[in-house]
Amino acid sequence: MTVRVRFAPSPTGHLHIGGVRTALFNFLFARRHGGTFILRLEDTDLERNVPGADQELMDGFRWLGLVWDEGPDIGGPYGPYRCTERLDVYRAALEDLIQLGYAYPCFCTPEMLEVEREEALREGRMPRYSGRCRALSDAEREQRMRAGVPYNWRFSVPTGIEIEIEDLVHGPVRFLSNDLGDFVIWKSNGLPTYNFQVVVDDHHMRITHVIRGEEHLSNTPRQWLIYRALDWPVPQFAHLPQVLDAQRKKLSKRDPHVRPVAWYREQGYVPQAIVNFLALLGWSPKDDQELLTMEELCDRFDLADVGRSGAVFDPVKLAWMAGQYLRQVPVHTLAEWVRPHLERAGMRLPDGVPGDWLERVVALYHEQMVCAADFPALARGFFVPDIEWSEEARAVLADPAAQAVVRSYLDLLDEGPWTPEASRERFRRVQEQLGVRGRALFMPVRAAATGETHGPDLQQTLSLLPPSWVKARLTKALALAGVTASSSVALNTEEGV
Ligand code: GLU
Repeated sequence: MTVRVRFAPSPTGHLHIGGVRTALFNFLFARRHGGTFILRLEDTDLERNVPGADQELMDGFRWLGLVWDEGPDIGGPYGPYRCTERLDVYRAALEDLIQLGYAYPCFCTPEMLEVEREEALREGRMPRYSGRCRALSDAEREQRMRAGVPYNWRFSVPTGIEIEIEDLVHGPVRFLSNDLGDFVIWKSNGLPTYNFQVVVDDHHMRITHVIRGEEHLSNTPRQWLIYRALDWPVPQFAHLPQVLDAQRKKLSKRDPHVRPVAWYREQGYVPQAIVNFLALLGWSPKDDQELLTMEELCDRFDLADVGRSGAVFDPVKLAWMAGQYLRQVPVHTLAEWVRPHLERAGMRLPDGVPGDWLERVVALYHEQMVCAADFPALARGFFVPDIEWSEEARAVLADPAAQAVVRSYLDLLDEGPWTPEASRERFRRVQEQLGVRGRALFMPVRAAATGETHGPDLQQTLSLLPPSWVKARLTKALALAGVTASSSVALNTEEGV
């Protein structure tokens, strides 16, 4: 048997992270078994369709490397792959069900159904359709149809059937047909419902494994009954565990950590980081390896290793993983990635810097970044001449000994080339002059030149900042510390250093 799986999103908005995970598991399963991965757009809920959502969805998948073998844009042997273009296929299947006596028109109005529902709830019964219209005679049906009363088609659920579904994740799951109630398969607006359409499509597209979110498990017995009614083979089912938030509640689309795929792309994440992170939401390889290439995932993914309990979406882990992947991006590539983010932040490269300058500044922050968009905030001081001094930096600079260091370094600025080595040489001379070393030597200059007490390599930092900026910042830092350039010289003299 050749494996054929599908991901069937409804283009109703941004693609939720749980949806991407479902698509990924389908993709990996297909690749693992040398099968076919199909993209089908379930766009029959016309009111909920969002223009452009299908394009965003496909762009997102392409970016992640989830390539489909059949789909709306490339076609395939069982197309079309947009459900609104398949209405004749559904119509034919509806006719078959009607012929077989499995479908009947229901003329109940929403108000009548609501009364039924409330009554059931009051009496502590599970609300389900009473089957009122099933009992209508042919004559009554015809008369109402002729009178133009709107109607839905309902599936006639046989009574007393035990439905057992052998789910590849959950194991055997049992349902009783008596609990289901006759459900709508075709709406009065001329469109099929999801439960009907999905069966027809999965059958005609020769789907062998239906891999989807756990929220669809309760739909499965209804779909199973339709397969049986039409005498179609039932595919295998695998319902993936829910994605949960830190409180182990179903992850909401409104959770601030949940972003559309397009957002991750726009922020400059490495796509494989997202793929790797999502692959581990509910699945893990036997040896618990955490960083896996797409090839390794395709090679090792197994539905048997998908857990039943919910998979917690951990944003800290995502950031860690994204950082790991970003570190593998060559710095010249990353320099290109950060450019649009600098632009958006209104930051320009300082005048006259050499061609490899941006790359060298990016290299300073490479280790700290999770995505390209992190760069402007981290490296702000390289792009904007004026800085603020943090509390900690001010505390360092309040010490007269620190001011003396800054003053001495400032006096030596014009000497030697503007390189890390020359800066190191300046520090050596300050050390000689003042007899300070280590932190007491470097920290004052860092604090004065960057406004911070921590940051990347100091000699690199100083030599990448334009000389005029360093001069202005050291001067201003001394002024802020209440010491003018000349009085600091006097201070040094007085102390005899
Ligand atoms: N359009 C459905 C959804 O997005 C597909 C469900 C299924 O895979 O059967 O949830």
